[in-house]
Amino acid sequence: MIASTHLTAGAAVGLLSYRFIFRPHSVSSLIGALILGIFSHFLLDMIPHSEEEIYRPDGTDKYQTAVFSVELALSFLAIYLCGVYGSFLTVPKKYILAGMIGGALPDVPHVLMNALKIDWSFLRAADRINVFFHTSLHSSSFWQGLWPQIAVIAISLTILCFLRQEIMRITP
Ligand SMILES: [Zn+2]
Ligand SMILES: [Zn+2]
Repeated sequence: MIASTHLTAGAAVGLLSYRFIFRPHSVSSLIGALILGIFSHFLLDMIPHSEEEIYRPDGTDKYQTAVFSVELALSFLAIYLCGVYGSFLTVPKKYILAGMIGGALPDVPHVLMNALKIDWSFLRAADRINVFFHTSLHSSSFWQGLWPQIAVIAISLTILCFLRQEIMRITP
């Protein structure tokens, strides 16, 4: 799935884990949130979807960097507005960040190898895990591949908004 999907879902998983599992806050709790973020990545990649048509709309790499940059900027902004903005509490933000890092992590080897044109064996090994969990069913059309991701992004941002309000209310 595209980076926006993994980042927003990871952020929501991070905040959910803080609300329902990892309290009080500790370093191992943060690591737990990161691991749950990684799980969310593999689970989401099992849902039939496509990223090919979004990153390479004309079949070439021409627009890949532009699409990727715009989507990263938009997802950071959306996560900030829904999960962080207006809250003075620092601890929940750390869990949002840990979840985002976990959610993005499995795709990092692939992105690094592509962007830097490197082919290191440990990156290739790490990428194989990512590929293993990735569905082989790729959607046939642009919209068919996009709508599950839009749904995941919408649900994740709603969870972030809702939990931010709730955590601010219950934390003195
Ligand atoms: Zn995919
Ligand atoms: Zn992946």
